[in-house]
Amino acid sequence: MMNNPSSQIPSESFGGHLAELGRGLLNLVFPPLCVVCRKGLQTGDHEEICRQCASLFNPVPLPACATCCAPLLTGGVEVSRCPRCPPKPVHFDGAVSAFLYQGSAAEAIKAYKFRFRRRLSEIFTEPLVTAFQQRFYDVTINGVIPVPLHKSRQRWREFNQSELLAEHFCSQMNLAMMRDAVCRIRKTPPQTRQVSSSKRLTNIKGAFQVPDPEKVKGGNFLVVDDIFTTGATVNEVASVLKQAGAKKVYILTIARAVK
Ligand SMILES: [Zn+2]
Ligand SMILES: [Zn+2]
Repeated sequence: MMNNPSSQIPSESFGGHLAELGRGLLNLVFPPLCVVCRKGLQTGDHEEICRQCASLFNPVPLPACATCCAPLLTGGVEVSRCPRCPPKPVHFDGAVSAFLYQGSAAEAIKAYKFRFRRRLSEIFTEPLVTAFQQRFYDVTINGVIPVPLHKSRQRWREFNQSELLAEHFCSQMNLAMMRDAVCRIRKTPPQTRQVSSSKRLTNIKGAFQVPDPEKVKGGNFLVVDDIFTTGATVNEVASVLKQAGAKKVYILTIARAVK
C-alpha cells in the first residue's frame, strides 16, 4: 500500500500548498535577501539573487581554448591546447563554460551548490544555452549526461546540482536527458577540499561506470557539470563514455575556474 502512487498524490500536493503558504509567511517576516550582496530583493528580481548581482557575472572572454575553455593568456586566435588544459590524454572533444568562476558568479554557484539554493539553477539555464549554441552550433547531440553524484552524497544534498542544470537545459533545447547513462560507483572526496591537480586525477580514477554501453555506442554526448576546474572529473566521465563506444563527448559547465 505504501507504494500506491494514487494514495501519495493528495498529500504531496497538500504539502506543496503548505510549503508555498509557509514561504509566503516567512517572506513577510524575513524579506528574502540576495545570496550574493545580501540586500533585500525587489519585485522583478529572481527569488534568490538581485538583478544587479546577476548582471555582474563575467562571461569567459573569447577567444578561449577550444578544449578546456580557459581564456587565452596571450589573446589572439583560438587554440586547441593551452597550458590550462587537463594533462593528456584528454578524452573529450571540446568544452565550453558560460562564466568565469569569480566574483558574483562564483558566489551564486557556491550558494547553489553548498547552501542548497536550488532555485538558482533557473538563472543558469539561459547562459548555458547561449554558451552551448555559440560553441557547439554545428554538432549533433544524442543525449545530455549530468555528472553523477555518489548515491550517499546525493541523499545528503537532496539534489544533484549538475542534473538540475541539465534538466533545465534539455527542456529548453529539446534534447534527451540521459540521467543514468553514467553512474558513480566509487565515493570520492569532494574535489573542492583537495589542493593539487594530480591528486584530483588519482582520486577520480575508476569513479564512474557506464552501466549499459549499448545506450551510448556510436552517439555524441554532452556532459553537464557545474564548475570546470582542472577538468579531471569531466575527463574521467568522457573516458568511460569513450570506452563504452561513444563517438564524441562535449562538456558544458556554468563556470570555468582559472587561477
Ligand atoms: Zn545582489
Ligand atoms: Zn586549454
